[in-house]
Amino acid sequence: MFSKTQPADLAIFGGAPLFDTIRSISNLVQPDVEQFLSYSKRFHDARQYTDHGRVEQMLERRLAEFHQVEHCVSFAGGFWGLVLSMKCLALPGKTEVVMPSLTYRRLADIVAWAGLVPHFCEVDPATLSITAETAAPCINENTALILGVHPIVNCCDVEGLERLSAQTGIPLLFDAVESVYETYRGRKVGSCGRAECFSMQSSKLFNAFEGGYVTTNDSALAARLRDMRHFGIRDDGSLDEIGIDAKQNEIHAAMALAAIDDVDAQVVRNRDRYRAYQRLIPTVPHMRLLPFDESERCGYKNIVVELKDGWPVKRERVLAILHAEHMLSRPYYFPALHQKRVDYPTVAGDLHATEQLAERFLMLPCGHFVDEADIEQIVALLNFIHTHATEINERYPT
Ligand SMILES: *Cc1c(COP(=O)(O)O)cnc(C)c1O
Repeated sequence: MFSKTQPADLAIFGGAPLFDTIRSISNLVQPDVEQFLSYSKRFHDARQYTDHGRVEQMLERRLAEFHQVEHCVSFAGGFWGLVLSMKCLALPGKTEVVMPSLTYRRLADIVAWAGLVPHFCEVDPATLSITAETAAPCINENTALILGVHPIVNCCDVEGLERLSAQTGIPLLFDAVESVYETYRGRKVGSCGRAECFSMQSSKLFNAFEGGYVTTNDSALAARLRDMRHFGIRDDGSLDEIGIDAKQNEIHAAMALAAIDDVDAQVVRNRDRYRAYQRLIPTVPHMRLLPFDESERCGYKNIVVELKDGWPVKRERVLAILHAEHMLSRPYYFPALHQKRVDYPTVAGDLHATEQLAERFLMLPCGHFVDEADIEQIVALLNFIHTHATEINERYPT
């Protein structure tokens, strides 16, 4: 039962928080510990803890199968998978990476670590993601790579971007971290573009503590990535490739395998949470739940709502109110990357649509520690904020 009756009951104004413990927007599922230990026993018995051991090899085969793709190369983190893929795929002598500005908050840094320059493009307001139409105007004589980033609900314009890449000769790489479970027009995400990059950091759908991987059907690219993650040492022992130490270790690979074993069950629970939001969000005026495209396979993890025209409380205030109630909601995404101050070069034209969209969306609690009763409380709170908007705005500490 929702117990707040007046604005003074809101935690931000001194009331008791709605939840005793934090409700997160991360998945936070724990793979089965016995599965994890049984995979771990394999490397322990073999006394090989890293350097492409048997568990990591098993993981790479399993992921290649999962994504219906020829090669999977695993990494210590998604970050380094992206950096090294960009280094391999960028057109020689060119510098710019065309990528959305309304996206994952560290993505431009990753491009900078690859020695390249982010060139920010608009997103399509309907999908909140990069499309061929938004990417094309940013392509110029300096373009080295197109970075297609899947948004956190559904997929980006895969076929449009593949067409643009074919027409321009500019390689296409995907950041597919948020679409790990999805299909695009019935095709498993993982074999699109030249390569696709994924993360298994503990807040993602596959929890490997830390980790990442790249999938590709390009054998030469896969071989080069394997060398580069291992100091650049080639199979024949030669060392003429620049590399780093970004190998995945065996215990992380064991955790990843246990996570993959569990993923279908996890997605069913995500779907149940999504269904509850789908049922309840329409009771909140001026709010819209971003729908998953259920003609495709979906992971149903992220819950994103739009504050539509007429929603009466500023988004930053809504977030502060939710935080005080112990809900870790985040804006989707703010600031947009071109609006952030960074100490590396970037290129951006007028990104009017992105700037407007960056004010409108927020992510609501989801994942393992959120149940249907919580969702009822969360939506009751959103209705409460809407109903008492005038008083909230008056009381709000400026
Ligand atoms: C988490 C994330 C990454 C980085 O992955 P790490 O494994 O944390 O380095 C890259 N892109 C997106 C979209 C992400 O959500």
